[in-house]
Amino acid sequence: MRSFTLTTVADIPAALEAGRRGGRFIAGGTTLVDLMRHHVEQPDALIDITGLPLREIALTGDGSLRIGALATMADTAAHPEVRDRFPVVAQALELSASAQLRHMATIGGNILQRTRCTYFRDVSASCNKRAPGSGCPAVGGINRGHAILGTSEHCIAPHASDVCVAFAALEAIVVLRGPNGERAVRFSDFLLQPGETPEREHDLRPGELVTAVEIPGYPPNLRSGYLKVRDRQSYEFALTSAAVALHIPDGVIRTAKVAVGGVGTVPWRLPGVEQALLGRRPEAAVWADAASGAADGAKLLPQNGFKADLLVRTVERQLRIVGGGL
Ligand code: SF4
Repeated sequence: MRSFTLTTVADIPAALEAGRRGGRFIAGGTTLVDLMRHHVEQPDALIDITGLPLREIALTGDGSLRIGALATMADTAAHPEVRDRFPVVAQALELSASAQLRHMATIGGNILQRTRCTYFRDVSASCNKRAPGSGCPAVGGINRGHAILGTSEHCIAPHASDVCVAFAALEAIVVLRGPNGERAVRFSDFLLQPGETPEREHDLRPGELVTAVEIPGYPPNLRSGYLKVRDRQSYEFALTSAAVALHIPDGVIRTAKVAVGGVGTVPWRLPGVEQALLGRRPEAAVWADAASGAADGAKLLPQNGFKADLLVRTVERQLRIVGGGL
């Protein structure tokens, strides 16, 4: 590992000032240290932000749930308001990584985590995301786990996070502080599809710090849950996953939020599936009909083509689990 400087900061102004001088913010370090060990990232300066007051998880006056960026995955999953109001978030977190990692990794770090594409993590390989213009060996190489939605000829890396799928479904907001003050970005706008610039993964401006994720208010009896399909039952990334939230106040579906993971270059919302659910009764035929369009627009490769059918069945199953009507 190359040598670097480490600056510890105790408040947000000090963090922003250190960020203005250059350097990478680090908290749990579960992604960045790993990448530094593999020489994928080699920052000259790190800014330790673990002392910042950004761990609180609380309801706000307008009914939103604000999760501080330094709340750990474990603390967020265990929080009573998260478990009670948004089980989809708690379940997605509990199905992620290992218990040890969940106690170190933070929510801010989770949404900024980088791809698990093996070519990206092997500095002897070409990779447009790591070395722009060098090529994408995954397109014609090993791509069983890669994305089928939101891909480009330049990159097909899947987004690895589970909780980001839940945040996308719930239309969460990312709150940022930077040299020009605070701004809020819709989750679906924050993470970027690769297009022609796969090296740009998110809308984070120089010197900006993620301070919180906010989930907007929903009816208290919103039902939600997360289903993850993977090769083994623990410490594995999703082949497909589905985050579903439904509000069915009078026997009719009035709110439907659906996003999927393991298949997109970003957490992938399914507005067509959501529209197909609204105004209908929670019945088996409705789940099957709505889920049938889950893989529309997918671009399949020889090794990952199985994901399209698996995705449809994952969404249908999770609609049934959350909405009932078996
Ligand atoms: Fe790199 Fe993306 Fe291709 Fe993987 S899929 S090798 S991250 S460009």
